[in-house]
Amino acid sequence: MPELPEVETVRRTLTGLIVGKTIQSVRVLLPRIIQRPDDIRRFELELAGHRILDVGRRGKFLRIIMDGLVLVSHLRMEGRYGLYDGGDPLEKHTHVIFHFTDGTELRYKDVRQFGTMHLFLPGEEFSHKPLAKLGLEPLDEAFTEEAFRKAISRRTTKIKPALLNQEYVVGLGNIYVDEALFRAGIHPERPANRLGDAELTRLYEAILDTLTEAVEAGGSSIKSYVNGQGEMGMFQHSLRIYGRQGEPCVNCGQAVEKTVVGGRGTHFCPHCQPPYTEESVVGKGSVQAKPKGRTKAAAQAKGSASARAHTGNGVRG
Ligand SMILES: [Zn+2]
Repeated sequence: MPELPEVETVRRTLTGLIVGKTIQSVRVLLPRIIQRPDDIRRFELELAGHRILDVGRRGKFLRIIMDGLVLVSHLRMEGRYGLYDGGDPLEKHTHVIFHFTDGTELRYKDVRQFGTMHLFLPGEEFSHKPLAKLGLEPLDEAFTEEAFRKAISRRTTKIKPALLNQEYVVGLGNIYVDEALFRAGIHPERPANRLGDAELTRLYEAILDTLTEAVEAGGSSIKSYVNGQGEMGMFQHSLRIYGRQGEPCVNCGQAVEKTVVGGRGTHFCPHCQPPYTEESVVGKGSVQAKPKGRTKAAAQAKGSASARAHTGNGVRG
């Protein structure tokens, strides 16, 4: 499933492919993709004649900005855009076609059919579903450590579901939450409101580092990522913890574990991400205190990992 870095990569690619083009007509082959307006004919007719000015992003949503309209598009599991020539044969699972005045076409394909499109007047999109209640944008300047603390530090849920909640911080999905928590050395089941100051700082930096590196990697591989027809897929990047259950941890060598947190498959290192030990909050009552030395060792292991990860702002432990 695309997360913020993948959607950002799609946004950048799409910008190069369609900005400046004018829509001649639109054809919807699968009505359920179009969530707004209800009337599919109206969707098709309203888009005709509009020129594409820019492609933006809010969380995992693309915002195709036109003169007088904004199309909000979510790729969900398998949605893809591709630029084709008008004469190219129509591939399976093509659900929406934007014909441009220059003879090219932007086609939306979606094998799983979970993707959505909403059409708005400019600016209107931020006060309606699906963008209305979205939280902090982690690659924005407004995503300061202070703002992050405010959004997260009072939540009583476990930290992993708190980070997945798009009303607090947008764009983080299952993969990058696991990666960020691993880098920060924080167990995914720790209650968000029990994280210490230093942990919140590490987590904030880990989120930024993880997303920035993934976006850069996506950006640098953009040529191989777009095929001859300008079709975009998901970028496969190097993951340190996600999907590595049973393999040795890259920090300490201990086997990576997989569990379920808030209904989501969750990967963590039991050594580098020690569980929470304060009995008062963990209702199960079966938590034994961890020897201090181990926590310290974990912190050191993590510290060296962060150093390796670099980032320039080396304010750690
Ligand atoms: Zn480890």
